[in-house]
Amino acid sequence: MLFVEQDELRFYQFDIFPKNVLNAVFTRHGGISPAPWRSLNLSISVGDDPSRVAANRARAFEALGRDPASIHDAWLVHGTDIIYADSPRPLDAHPQKADIIFTDNPEVTLFMRYADCVPLLFHDPKKGVIGIAHAGWMGTVKGVAEASIQGMQERYGSNPADVFAGIGPSIGVDHYEVGEDVVSQFRAKYGRDSERVLQTRNGSAYLDLWTANVLQLQNMGVEHIQVSGLCTACNLDDWFSHRAEKGKTGRFGALMALA
Ligand SMILES: [Zn+2]
Repeated sequence: MLFVEQDELRFYQFDIFPKNVLNAVFTRHGGISPAPWRSLNLSISVGDDPSRVAANRARAFEALGRDPASIHDAWLVHGTDIIYADSPRPLDAHPQKADIIFTDNPEVTLFMRYADCVPLLFHDPKKGVIGIAHAGWMGTVKGVAEASIQGMQERYGSNPADVFAGIGPSIGVDHYEVGEDVVSQFRAKYGRDSERVLQTRNGSAYLDLWTANVLQLQNMGVEHIQVSGLCTACNLDDWFSHRAEKGKTGRFGALMALA
């Protein structure tokens, strides 16, 4: 993964995607919001002023040469429903509830917001499709990565072996202690593999969302996977972390578009 600095913005780009696939996961640098959203907060649902959020979003889109009106985003609900975005979202309409969005239209800019949950980015170069998804523990245990690949197969005829997938900055296993309710759901979903997904230290359980999502993708037949390996809670200078900042924080954005 590459680290790009442009004006005051700093963002990561997966280098497994070809040049015609614009992609960025924005750090918190380069925006105008004050603490606790300092500074490139991209969500209006965390108490920040909507006009500042709109200005931050315009900066992020302009950095990639995209019109802010080309956005297609979603109201994240920790599920596995998919939006197939054939056109930008009408700006006077509320975002649809979903955690996965795909498009094959270069006029559309896919956009999602995060603060510990896992950004999943997808590209099928043979079918000219891109996608972006949101996988917290709830979405992961419901199979959001599996549902994404299944959606690509059904809607676009993708072969999973052709798909490239990126796993972005999110809370790492070092910082992600979970309770018994979460442990039992992951044990039920992952069976024998749950030992790779759950770690025990000093009698506490820790969840590895990166491995959990890699395993789902591999089980679906995806071979090309890039894991950023960046923990949001370890790097609060760069990322918003809901867990490490005790809920008082912003959301960073991930953007994807076909050039
Ligand atoms: Zn960490």
